[in-house]
Amino acid sequence: MRKPFVAGNWKMHGSKASILTLVTGLNAKSSEISGVDIAICPPTIYIDYTSHCLSADNIFIGGQNIAEEPDQGAFTGESSVEMLKDLGCQYVVLGHSERRTIYGESDSQIAQKVKVAMKAGVTPILCIGETLEERQSGVMESVIAAQLKAVLDVVGIAAFESVVIAYEPIWAIGTGVTASPAQAQEVHAFIRSELAVLDSTVAEKVIIQYGGSVKPNNAVELFSQPDIDGGLIGGASLDANDFMAICKAAGV
Ligand code: PEP
Repeated sequence: MRKPFVAGNWKMHGSKASILTLVTGLNAKSSEISGVDIAICPPTIYIDYTSHCLSADNIFIGGQNIAEEPDQGAFTGESSVEMLKDLGCQYVVLGHSERRTIYGESDSQIAQKVKVAMKAGVTPILCIGETLEERQSGVMESVIAAQLKAVLDVVGIAAFESVVIAYEPIWAIGTGVTASPAQAQEVHAFIRSELAVLDSTVAEKVIIQYGGSVKPNNAVELFSQPDIDGGLIGGASLDANDFMAICKAAGV
């Protein structure tokens, strides 16, 4: 039985004032939620401040990116996984489509970051997903399989016991267009079947989140699909009531 996991990706949003309001709201509602793991992923610069505002003991902190280099060094503007860990991060979002498309991160760079995170004991939330063109031209499954394979080739299937996968169709991220529960389920089942070819036990255990315009009004139906184990939430994670309603939809 997989425990659902909901993570909030704040992207490059927030200020000390808005984070205090948001986290105060999360703290107040956290005791209403059970049966789901929860994380919030603030911008790197606000991780420490967010931790100080957070009193809920069932909400964990994650980062949104790390350097490929495992150690500190002359890498201007970068933050290492050890630095995030030092600030209390247990998770890190890797391979988000915004990093892939805007910053040109390749499958092999993402695989390296997954390896570095795992070595440090920080759980990667590995984002994979197709564009609308890829879906419409019938190459969706091969795109997703290639994104997975790039990481599997570097860390191996056994490591996926400690990797969270976030299936995020790029056409559904921040657009208000959600994949239908059936569309999402179909891809989640495909991802699990790809892993099962290598190790059925790992495939059965791996948490696969859905991400892409999840809101309180569509979360219940999405999360009731058999292979959807919670969500990676962008816009709706910036509102305490919405985010907690989504967490509640994933829980018991
Ligand atoms: C995301 O950024 O990972 C995401 C899913 O965003 P949104 O929920 O806003 O679509």
